[in-house]
Amino acid sequence: MSVFDHPSFDDHEKVLFADDPVTGLRAILAVHSTVRGPAVGGCRMWAYEDSHAALTDVLRLSQGMSYKNVMADLPIGGGKSVIIRPKGDFDRVALFEAFGRALEALNGNYISAEDVGVSPADMVAARRTTRHVVGLPDGTGDPSPVTAKGVFLGIKVCVQKALGKSSLEGVKIAVQGATGHVGSHLVGHLAEAGAELFLADINEPALSALAQKHGATVVDKDAIYDVDADVFTPCALGAVINPETIDRLKVKLVAGAANNQLATREMGAELMKRGIAYAPDYVINAGGIINVMGELDARFDAKWVEGKLVTLQSTLAEILDTAEREGKPANLVADELARQRIEDARAGKKEAA
Ligand code: NAD
Repeated sequence: MSVFDHPSFDDHEKVLFADDPVTGLRAILAVHSTVRGPAVGGCRMWAYEDSHAALTDVLRLSQGMSYKNVMADLPIGGGKSVIIRPKGDFDRVALFEAFGRALEALNGNYISAEDVGVSPADMVAARRTTRHVVGLPDGTGDPSPVTAKGVFLGIKVCVQKALGKSSLEGVKIAVQGATGHVGSHLVGHLAEAGAELFLADINEPALSALAQKHGATVVDKDAIYDVDADVFTPCALGAVINPETIDRLKVKLVAGAANNQLATREMGAELMKRGIAYAPDYVINAGGIINVMGELDARFDAKWVEGKLVTLQSTLAEILDTAEREGKPANLVADELARQRIEDARAGKKEAA
């Protein structure tokens, strides 16, 4: 099958396959869209089963970044890269230097940050061979607190819409992945706002300490779906809303930081059928990418970031309102709006040319 026939191919502008036998680098870099600016998105390193699985992932993830970045109204496009983790021992620095060379070949059309399996130190190695990396240790730092702040503000908006409550005081919230980088900051905000918290994580010592600090209830990781709560807040893994979990949910709202929460797009309609509102993940969790913008341009300072987080909440509210008005699943409303914004930018560019 060629890339062009791949089911996840969505008129991606460029897909670069990099193979470097010396370092063992096998990577795919996908630029989905640069209509609104250079494509920005993370580099993921994973032990993919084969190159087809890696291609599927990078095509989907890069499209997702275009949608996330346009919904946050950022002057950037969407891209992503994946490295097929070499088997056995390998020289990590040499591998990321080779990745940097591949990145450099895209001439700044794609700027990479770190993602799953890749650390800021890896980006430092890549920086030796390309300028087109962000997420460096001396850059804007860990984006998780800003992601958490955005998710917290988003939950407030969604609770108002789905539960008719203007405050989180007494609202029951079940958080999955509570002790993670995003989860732990989010739990702090939710506790401060007076929510009644139910927390799950596989990191048990950290979980009991966090629960004690905030007077929250610890829940077994497998029982978090069954909690009789108002809100389910996934902050760990993807695909947690699936045919096995959906009928266990007793909540009125799913809103959290995790990427790709719905196992399939159809899960959005299934949530709606069950009267459960959904905050599209790539909208509510865009705080991190907003924060990274500071590394691209000094104009994007802390005040600008705060303003963007506020605008993000209006976008989220608009999506939920449209979903309600048109009786459509919120994830599809968000996808349509994202595609429309990209098309509008493309049309504007053509007109200006
Ligand atoms: P993290 O690895 O720090 O946190 C994940 C947490 O989930 C960990 O505490 C882990 O122990 C826990 N966990 C793993 N498996 C679990 C299970 N089965 N049940 C319960 N808990 C489990 O990651 P993070 O940076 O906090 O990101 C969390 C999610 O948010 C991810 O899906 C990530 O892609 C997404 N996200 C993160 C950011 C960011 O700024 N960090 C931005 C956007 C989206």
